[in-house]
Amino acid sequence: MITGKELREKYIRNQPTAFCPGCGDGMVLNGMSRAVENLGIERKDIVAVSGIGCAAWVVSPYWRVDTLHTTHGRAIPHAIGVKVGNKDLNVVVVSGDGDCVGIGGNHLIHACRNNIDLTVIMINNGLYAMTGGQVAPTTEHGEKTITTPYGNPSQGMDVAELVKAAGASHVARWTTYHMRELTKEVEYALEKKGLSFIEVITQCPTRTGKKDNLSTLEMLEWYKNNTSKNPEDGKITVGRSVDKERPEMADVIYEQIISAGGTLK
Ligand code: SF4
Repeated sequence: MITGKELREKYIRNQPTAFCPGCGDGMVLNGMSRAVENLGIERKDIVAVSGIGCAAWVVSPYWRVDTLHTTHGRAIPHAIGVKVGNKDLNVVVVSGDGDCVGIGGNHLIHACRNNIDLTVIMINNGLYAMTGGQVAPTTEHGEKTITTPYGNPSQGMDVAELVKAAGASHVARWTTYHMRELTKEVEYALEKKGLSFIEVITQCPTRTGKKDNLSTLEMLEWYKNNTSKNPEDGKITVGRSVDKERPEMADVIYEQIISAGGTLK
């Protein structure tokens, strides 16, 4: 079995990373790398795409695969282009909650509707971290941020429910407390045909931790105590909520090209 040091050397470039100490982004990077290693997928067969924000750094500059670092909220349409161009590639999108469902929310909905074969990992720390901790669509109601100093008047969005309704064929939610489960879920997503969406609820020690006076350990403890696989428990539900078969868009496009007399390279 590969050691932690070997895993870092094989999959992570530009070490040490610029993530703040205790940030969940590095944990997700580790889990993704271990999933690829466990499956034996060659790095040349992966293209990873990101937009803007701390979570985008997981892909670029840090993941040692072919990467595309795009503009804010636009990772998914670029990823669709890559997938339709070569459907044999494993195409992975890593996006923060603001990037994925704020600026890029419309792209996410339509990618799910078309069930394009992407693995979308949304790192959800509940605010815009890189730009200073502003309110995001995922910020819980009543939560104080630098732009909602009296508490968020909006309701936080349940993105897993959104993508479920939009048609994703695989949906799951974990936290950085659940690294073993998360790694297995990424493995499953990489092998699953269609759009796989994994939400990872993640600590931001610099914004949330300082604001709420919580250490990284205390935030992980909070995830442990406030999540459950049983929706009846009244906690944040974790686990796989959707796993179904649906037609996948790149396959349909390729079939159309062939039936129209075209050729594929
Ligand atoms: S600001 Fe928050 S999300 Fe960004 S690197 Fe630091 S801890 Fe991570």
